[in-house]
Amino acid sequence: MQSHAQSTVPGPFRYTFPKPMTARVVSTLLLFASPLLISQTPSANTSKMPSKTQSPAEVHRSALVIDTHADTPQRFLDEHFDLADPRNGGNLNLDSIHKGNLGAEFFSIWVDPRHYKGQYARRTLELIDSVKQQVARHPDQIQFVASPEGIEEAHRNHKFAALMGIEGGHSIENSIPLLRQYYALGVRYMTLTWSNSNDWADSSGDINDTTIPHTKEGLTEFGKDVVYEMNRLGMMVDISHVSDRTFYRTLVITRAPIIASHSGARALCNAPRNMTDDMLLAVARSGGPNSKGGVVQVNFFSGFVSQAYWDALKAVQPEIDKAIAEAKDKAKAEGREFKFPDEEKIQRSYLDRIPRPPLSMLIDHIDHIAKVAGVDHVGLGSDFDGVYGQLPEGLDSPADLPKITAALMARGYSADDCRKILGGNLLRVFREVEQVAKELQAKDRPRITDKQPFDKAQK
Ligand SMILES: [Zn+2]
Repeated sequence: MQSHAQSTVPGPFRYTFPKPMTARVVSTLLLFASPLLISQTPSANTSKMPSKTQSPAEVHRSALVIDTHADTPQRFLDEHFDLADPRNGGNLNLDSIHKGNLGAEFFSIWVDPRHYKGQYARRTLELIDSVKQQVARHPDQIQFVASPEGIEEAHRNHKFAALMGIEGGHSIENSIPLLRQYYALGVRYMTLTWSNSNDWADSSGDINDTTIPHTKEGLTEFGKDVVYEMNRLGMMVDISHVSDRTFYRTLVITRAPIIASHSGARALCNAPRNMTDDMLLAVARSGGPNSKGGVVQVNFFSGFVSQAYWDALKAVQPEIDKAIAEAKDKAKAEGREFKFPDEEKIQRSYLDRIPRPPLSMLIDHIDHIAKVAGVDHVGLGSDFDGVYGQLPEGLDSPADLPKITAALMARGYSADDCRKILGGNLLRVFREVEQVAKELQAKDRPRITDKQPFDKAQK
């Protein structure tokens, strides 16, 4: 992520249509827990299980925990970080994954659009490769998967499931064939934009910057084709980072439920990266008439969790920008490359001075989304290794995830609800996205995109 402080105009219209919000027995409950644990039988109806007898630790260990956003691939590539290493300032490693019973991670394939101009596809492929290299190095502990069944199978094998999501549509370089090849390599969601608007979708990060061209309706015709092709392939459509207008336009276009891979509630922290109550509800109701709806995966970044942190961040941002600009100039003068880790170091030195919000504020976001959108529509999207280490108190790595379960149970969430939030909801959406893809594929052959080569004049 990138925490430029910007404000955003709220969505111009409400997008709501009635849909039954039926609860669904989460079949993932039959999954095995970590190696230490007792498994539940496939026929166990956990909704009838006496949750009072289960301690929060037991509930956490019995869950298939899925996180939908970690930026660790940049560490793999730029810092030669290995998941078996000590965390060394980062958030994610194998030790913490095992301690916190993290079952699956969607590794973020994020291409810095400023640093890799003209090389988006190359950098995307290198990041994808970096994830696969980690799997190849630790085949006894990590399994590369690209389906809901794959996540479950890895869990049964007592392995950590590694998946991938692309963060920022600029990675496809305006090419639907490239999108298809990323799918073929195992990418299972794409965030339509990062903090930069691309040629076919707008970002909340620069929507108020008049020097940057934006679309008329949130998505260009080509952008609509991208969403359709993602639906047809079975790649989850992720609306974290997009502008409000792009969000609502995507909802009109998508035939499958959508996800927010790492976003919070704007009612609690008014950052443009967070979502209004109307948007939360709209995600819950996304998909076709028979859809069970999408899911909002809550971002742990202190700046999106706490209003006080966000305000402090906005206040110090100009100073940070200045320091980064100076460091860039200095690097240039000395003939050195200035990469994201260099920038991150500077960001961190400033942000470390802002007090961390308490963990309870993160729980407030989960609780708020569960109340507004329903407990079937909220999950975890940590943004580990992507937020300069700026996380709520006591939350430094996946090893701390059991604290979230304990806090939810302390607020009265049942064992069943906790397991939904920890991963069951995401699995449900992933399954439905694949089902919609099957239906679309039965009807439609791949479209050869007659709109390419992409022409900006189409806007
Ligand atoms: Zn992000």
